Amino acid sequence: MRLVLLGGPGSGKGTQADVLKEKYKVIKLSTGDLLRQAISDGSDLGKQAKSYMDKGELVPDSVMIGILDKKTAEFEAKKQGYILDGFPRTLPQADALMDMLKQQKVELTMALLIDVPEAELVRRLSSRWTCKNCSATTFKDPDGNPVVCPQCGGELYQRDDDKKETIINRIEVYNKNTRPLITFFKDKGLLEEVNGYGTFEEISGRIIELFVMKGIK
Ligand code: ADP
Repeated sequence: MRLVLLGGPGSGKGTQADVLKEKYKVIKLSTGDLLRQAISDGSDLGKQAKSYMDKGELVPDSVMIGILDKKTAEFEAKKQGYILDGFPRTLPQADALMDMLKQQKVELTMALLIDVPEAELVRRLSSRWTCKNCSATTFKDPDGNPVVCPQCGGELYQRDDDKKETIINRIEVYNKNTRPLITFFKDKGLLEEVNGYGTFEEISGRIIELFVMKGIK
C-alpha cells in the first residue's frame, strides 16, 4: 500500500494513519512529526523549519521533496508499504511525488481525502492537545479534561501552531496550497473520499469499508 492522506489541519489524518498502520502493517510517515522531532533534536533541518512552522507557513518545497525522495526510496528497498500524512501539501510536491513513484516503477494506491467542514476544523484545532511522549492528539473539554494522554499517560501540551491566530493562517495556507491537490489526484483517477465528520472510530470504519470495497489488504 502506498497511500496519501489529504485533509485540512485537524481533519484527523494523523490519528487515522495510526489506526491504518497497525491494521495494514505499513509505515506512517508524518512530515509534521518528522519536522517537530528535528526541531527538538536541534538539527539543521529543525533550525530551518521552525520559523515557518511557528507561523503556520509551509516549509519550502525543495526541503520537503528531498526528505521524501530519500524516505520513499528506503521504503521501496525494504518492500515496505507506507502512508503519507502531511505530504504532498503543494502542487510541486505532488508532481515530485508522482515523479519519484515513476522512477521507482511503482504506483500510488490512492489519495484519500478526509473531508471535514472548515468550522469543525477550527473547533477541533483550538481544543487539540498533543502528547509530549507519543505524539497522540486528544481534545480537552471546557473543564480541561483529560489532564494526561489517554493512550500512554504522558504529559500533554498545546502545539504552538494550535494557538488561535496560527490556526486561521494554517487553514488559509491549506485552502490556497493544498486544496488544489484534490483536483490533481481526481484528474489522475486516484482520489477517494470519506466523510470526516464523526468519532474517530466512525471515520476509521468508513475508511476500512472503502478499502474492503477496493480490495486493499
Ligand atoms: P497539521 O496537518 O495539523 O497542520 P502537521 O503536523 O501535518 O499539522 O504539520 C505542521 C506544520 O509542519 C505545517 O504547518 C508546516 O509548517 C510543516 N509541514 C509539514 N508537512 C509539510 C510539507 N509537506 N510541506 C511543507 N511544510 C510542511
